[in-house]
Amino acid sequence: MANPSLLILAGDGIGPEVMAEVKKIIGWYGDKRGLAFDVSEDLVGGCSYDAHGTPLTDAAMAKAQAVDAVLLGAVGGPQYDDLDFALKPERGLLRLRKEMDLYSNLRPAQCFDALADFSSLKKDVVAGLDIMIVRELTSGVYFGEPRGIFTEGGERVGINTQRYTESQIVRVARSAFELARRRGNKVCSVEKANVMESGVLWREVVTKVRDAEYPDVALSHMYADNCAMQLVRNPKQFDVIVTDNLFGDILSDCAAMLTGSLGMLPSASLGAPMANGRPKALYEPVHGSAPDIAGQGKANPIACVLSFAMALRYSFDQGSEADRLEKAVEKVLADGVRTADLMGPEGGVPVTTSEMGDRIIAALDASL
Ligand code: NAD
Repeated sequence: MANPSLLILAGDGIGPEVMAEVKKIIGWYGDKRGLAFDVSEDLVGGCSYDAHGTPLTDAAMAKAQAVDAVLLGAVGGPQYDDLDFALKPERGLLRLRKEMDLYSNLRPAQCFDALADFSSLKKDVVAGLDIMIVRELTSGVYFGEPRGIFTEGGERVGINTQRYTESQIVRVARSAFELARRRGNKVCSVEKANVMESGVLWREVVTKVRDAEYPDVALSHMYADNCAMQLVRNPKQFDVIVTDNLFGDILSDCAAMLTGSLGMLPSASLGAPMANGRPKALYEPVHGSAPDIAGQGKANPIACVLSFAMALRYSFDQGSEADRLEKAVEKVLADGVRTADLMGPEGGVPVTTSEMGDRIIAALDASL
């Protein structure tokens, strides 16, 4: 049987630096676990603009459509700020999400014990936290028509439209219920049905999907403003949260920050199942290209490493190997190994990006 295929798009800034550590780990799985991947690479973002005059070539897009999973580093940088909108590095990422139709964005918020002190909340509120936010990614107010700035009655008016069809809600609800079954079997659906018709429909459709297809999964509903409050008051009450594009954008950032550094946060964006049954998938750290520390060996590669762990779990059916990799990261952190972004006020000597990768590999070796 052919090896599973993976397209690496390392991108700009610290993207290639953190991806270099993931490549070491991919190599480790081939050597030590007999888990070989067919890895190809291409350009996205500013580096693609520099080489080809576009943030993503048609050829790179076609490769992304053909592989089992895409792993992306980060895009962007101040040197591209003045480019036309259509040529900006971020457009490469948006094209991938749009053309692969990645409608379900998974943002875990997990607090490693060794980093519980990093949260702005009290340690006992966040220690052991493990929640997953599922954000609808391809519809809603960021895409709805009409949109634009128009002139009405002698003044300008800015318009965006929140719009959800039943089928758009059904598919992201299914994605959340499927995930819940692999976790704590609990979904909290979040909208503002008290003031928005799109929220009324959202609530009805999510409930219908649960009743018809996932009667074993516990479902609750919450208004988005209350959810924001509950996330900082008692985040451990949640398992899976499913919500729309706008609320998900805000709530996932809020939940993520409960756990400390941006350098720790992975994400996955999933689409419809392909012919082989695997979902279309793109995995990437939440952080950007961090131009302020690029090229200095300071970047924390863990967000990108954990994104690969998500790929192992959701694209390659290697849940136990994903556990192994996450435990290796946990062990390294418990041993006090820290990149600069994870240094507390007590100080110490941070490890470099590459040393962090080597320590994770050593922990993987020790797990055998
Ligand atoms: P950023 O995430 O790049 O950086 C924010 C801060 O966090 C910086 O101080 C940075 O040094 C730090 N940081 C981020 N990742 C880190 C890591 N792995 N290890 C240690 N520290 C880390 O956000 P920004 O500064 O707002 O944006 C910089 C560029 O990245 C912009 O061009 C922006 O458009 C782009 N961006 C890209 C993505 C993406 O590729 N998905 C996401 C956000 C921003």
